[in-house]
Amino acid sequence: METLDKKSACSKCGHIALKTWDELTEDEKMVFSRFPEVMRLKISEKKMLEFCVRCCSVDAAPRSTFA
Ligand SMILES: [Zn+2]
Repeated sequence: METLDKKSACSKCGHIALKTWDELTEDEKMVFSRFPEVMRLKISEKKMLEFCVRCCSVDAAPRSTFA
């Protein structure tokens, strides 16, 4: 079992400091907004994701719960 830090790591490149939607800069938001899987989300759904600015991948945040 791996020890999970409170910040989750990117599943693709292992980068630790994933950003939430609110933490992204305007430029970064523009980049991720072009992703088809992000484009169709509502803003409230984007806030449940974590974004890796290193390899530009999108991860579902561990705290996200879909009831
Ligand atoms: Zn990454």
